[in-house]
Amino acid sequence: MISLAITCVQLMPHYALNLVQNQARPLSHATAFIGAWYRWRKRRICHQTNLELNMSTPSHPYFSIIIVGAGPTSLTMGNLLGTFGIDVLILERKAGLSDLPKAIALDDEGLRICQAMDLSHAVIENILLDIDAHYISGKHYLAKVSPTSKRNGYPLISTFHQPEFEATLHHGLKRFPCVSILFQHAVETFEQSDSGVILTVSTPEGIFKTFACSYLLACDGAKSAIRRQLGISMRGLTFSQKWLVIDTINDDDPSTVATFFCNPDRPAVTVPAPHASRRWEFMLLPGEKEEDLLRDQKIRTLIQQLGGSPDIQISRRLIYTFHASLAQTFSKGRVFLLGDAAHLMPPFSGQGMSSGLRDAHNLSWKLQMVLQSQASPILLDTYSQERHEHVAQMIWLSKFLGKIIMPTFKPAALLRDGVFLTLNTIPSIREYLTEARLKPQPRYKKGFVLFDGTKESKAIAGIMLPQSEVKTPEGKMTLLDNILGTGFALLRLHDNPEEAFVSLKANIWQHLGVRFVSIENETDIFPLNQRDLFILVRPDRFIYGVFREEHADAFAATFRKHLLHLIHTQK
Ligand SMILES: Cc1cc2nc3c(=O)[nH]c(=O)nc-3n(C[C@H](O)[C@H](O)[C@H](O)COP(=O)(O)OP(=O)(O)OC[C@H]3O[C@@H](n4cnc5c(N)ncnc54)[C@H](O)[C@@H]3O)c2cc1C
Repeated sequence: MISLAITCVQLMPHYALNLVQNQARPLSHATAFIGAWYRWRKRRICHQTNLELNMSTPSHPYFSIIIVGAGPTSLTMGNLLGTFGIDVLILERKAGLSDLPKAIALDDEGLRICQAMDLSHAVIENILLDIDAHYISGKHYLAKVSPTSKRNGYPLISTFHQPEFEATLHHGLKRFPCVSILFQHAVETFEQSDSGVILTVSTPEGIFKTFACSYLLACDGAKSAIRRQLGISMRGLTFSQKWLVIDTINDDDPSTVATFFCNPDRPAVTVPAPHASRRWEFMLLPGEKEEDLLRDQKIRTLIQQLGGSPDIQISRRLIYTFHASLAQTFSKGRVFLLGDAAHLMPPFSGQGMSSGLRDAHNLSWKLQMVLQSQASPILLDTYSQERHEHVAQMIWLSKFLGKIIMPTFKPAALLRDGVFLTLNTIPSIREYLTEARLKPQPRYKKGFVLFDGTKESKAIAGIMLPQSEVKTPEGKMTLLDNILGTGFALLRLHDNPEEAFVSLKANIWQHLGVRFVSIENETDIFPLNQRDLFILVRPDRFIYGVFREEHADAFAATFRKHLLHLIHTQK
């Protein structure tokens, strides 16, 4: 465990300064009538935008953000926007949350996002932390993944139950009076203009209602009707493979190893899950019928073949078709696609849901800054630019792992075995596999990142700031993000916290409430470890840019310009 001594945490006063004029115009058919409903909402503790005055009518109740769907992506977004005090309405077609056995693996970045929602403790209560993954072919280990690094402050692989996770997120929303959720409300259609979006929603009473918002977030899953209405196509659909997915309870195997059986006769996976439960997944072979595979006896036989008990208690069973595809773009006008609505990938890298969580983390603070007039709406364009490339990498990883696990053609499986057995004899490659370095670390090469040509900016701008445990001046140990707060933070390695930031004169730091954090001792987790370097970290913990004292004013001016006009800063 690495510990830092944080010797100064200075919270600059936050001014809700309007850095930009809100460029939105009122909807042509909306009036400024303020109805009883609107007055009720106004009493809630929310930040309101000036659009609300123009768009809210008794027939179009207004919210800054409307989210379609109440899956994990939407619930994450609701919690993050709630933290920022943004008024949000979530509309879900079903009567409650999903009870399907979908995601099982949560990565370290996902847990870090739970921390940003202040829900990591509640989530960790119900997960199995620190899982290894073994890839086996016959009697041979193709790879033993057992990562030791905690780059983001959490183990790289943990397992969880998606329904339980969603329930925790849903419960988290109750902390925010400005976030509401309506079940049995299906979005039927929407219309967007320069100034907002109007939605038509069917209700449990069988009538249609309209709602208005500044931005519409489509978290409506793989079959997203909103994506279709926007005319955004899905690309790269490479395979669709059916798998039988089984959850069992009262599992007495204490091991914390997920095993991928790369067996050409029947590729299969078993994953330990929290509360003595377990996930089993079996690939369907050509010609097999779904109804045969779903029979109790067949499931028990398959589980027994993997070493499980035939008397195991089955809690859920389903046949899923795994897809890989990516929306051409993640936004159009005032509508944004997030989660499965924007991307689908086979579950072999456990990145489907985590990618949706990252989408929400990326977009939430940008929406907050735009809605609170701290940044130009052009900032929102960087959401698609930044997330698209990273999701493409995760799809690549998921497909690559699928290619290792799924071959049923025996010569291909033999060739794979030979390659992996050889690679495992090379210590550096074995370590690469063990530490799960195959998974690309997120790095934004374009978007809201400043590459100013210096070697320091080339080295670290756009990467996610690693997170370690730190010691506060009061001697308390905590994770770094808990110190950084929810907004931008400026970091510096310095012995004297009183002096670390005195040279910074630009008032943008105060205007945006940027938190100044001085770190006393050098550590391998802190990027670059140079004492004269300032590191500006975004609210989603990605490094915006770096500068030295002599360039502080120029950097601040560029940052301000970037927020207001989004200048070209790509690598
Ligand atoms: C078998 C399996 C295993 C998986 N394993 C993993 C894993 O280990 N790790 C991982 O990270 N991911 C995994 N995934 C992927 C993960 O489950 C999904 O990526 C995740 O559920 C997507 O969440 P979402 O919120 O984007 O969409 P969804 O969970 O699909 O939610 C969309 C919601 O929108 C609602 N909706 C749709 N249309 C409308 C409308 N018009 N109006 C109102 N509501 C609407 C739907 O009812 C639904 O509730 C797995 C998936 C499967 C199938």
